[in-house]
Amino acid sequence: MASPTVGFVGLGNMGAALADNLVRYGFDVIAYDVAGPDRAPERARFAADLAEVAREADIVVFSLPDGTVSEKVAAEIAGTAERRVAHIIDTSTIGVAAAGRITELLTAAGIGYVDAPVSGGVAGARARKLAVMYAGPDDAVQAVYPVLTGLSDKIRRVGDRAGLGQALKLANNFLSATALAATSEAVAFGVRAGLDMKTMIEVLNTSSGRSAATDDKFPNDVLTGRYGSGFANTLMAKDVRLYLAEVREAAAPDTVGATTEDIWKRFAAAEPGVDFTRIYPFVEGTPSAEGTA
Ligand code: NAD
Repeated sequence: MASPTVGFVGLGNMGAALADNLVRYGFDVIAYDVAGPDRAPERARFAADLAEVAREADIVVFSLPDGTVSEKVAAEIAGTAERRVAHIIDTSTIGVAAAGRITELLTAAGIGYVDAPVSGGVAGARARKLAVMYAGPDDAVQAVYPVLTGLSDKIRRVGDRAGLGQALKLANNFLSATALAATSEAVAFGVRAGLDMKTMIEVLNTSSGRSAATDDKFPNDVLTGRYGSGFANTLMAKDVRLYLAEVREAAAPDTVGATTEDIWKRFAAAEPGVDFTRIYPFVEGTPSAEGTA
C-alpha cells in the first residue's frame, strides 16, 4: 500500500506535538479538534468535521482527554457513511475498561484498534523520546506500525490486545503521581528544616531518592517557577482514579494508591486545570494532619 493518509483527532498539548511529528516524518495528515484549527500542524490539512477525517484517512490517531470522549469519537467514525478508516491508534490515557468497550465497538465495525498510551511529557514528544507502549492483535499492529514509528523513536509493544498498554500506562502514572507528591512533601520538610531547595534537589539526584520528580519536574518546573510541563492536574487526577478503580477490580494491593488518589483528587478540586507540577505549592501549603487535629 502507498503511504497511508493519517487522521489525527485531538490537537491539545500532547496531540499538537504528536501530529507535528507525523507531518515531519512525511505523512499526509488530516487533523481535527472540536476547539478549531489553531493548533493544527502547518503542513496538515484541517478537516471541517470528524466525518471528513473518517472519509479520508486510512489510519486515525487519537489524543483525547478521556475514555468517554475516545469512545464517542470512535463510534462516530465507525458510523460514518463511506468511511475509509480501517485502523485506529489511541494514544490517550483512557483506562483498561474503556479500551475494552472501544475494541468491541470497533471490531463490530471491522476497524482494527491499537491502544498506544504515551509517557514523557510534551517536551519528550517534541524530542521524539516519548515512550509509546502499544498493544493489539498482530494484524492491527502490523498495519499501524509505520504510523507508530512516526510518533516517536521509543515505541514498544507490550501485549496482544488493546487495553494492556493502558494497564502499563496507569501503573506508570500512579508511580509518577506518587513520586511527585512524595517529593513535594520531602522538599517542603527540607525547606522548613532550613535547607536550600536547589541544593536539596541536586543532592537527591545523586542519591537514592532520585526519580522523574527530582530529575525533571523539580529542576525544570518548580525551581524555575515555570510550572509549564503541559500536563494538567485534572488529567493526572483522572489517571490515578482510573488506576485505583482497576486495582480494586483486580483485587490488587491499594494502600499507597488510596493515599496518592486522595492527594491528587484534593489538588484537582482546589485548583482545576493548573499544571500538575503545581502540586508542590499545593502540598507545601497543606498543614500536617497532626497540625490540623
Ligand atoms: P488537552 O486537554 O490539552 O487536549 C485534548 C484535546 O482534545 C483538546 O484540544 C480538545 O479540544 C480536544 N477534544 C476534546 N473533545 C474532542 C472531540 N470530541 N473531538 C475532537 N477533539 C476533541 O490534553 P493533553 O494534555 O493533550 O492530553 C491528551 C491525552 O494524552 C490525555 O488522555 C492525557 O491523559 C494523555 N497524556 C498527556 C500527556 C501530557 O504531558 N500532556 C502525557 C501523557 C499522556
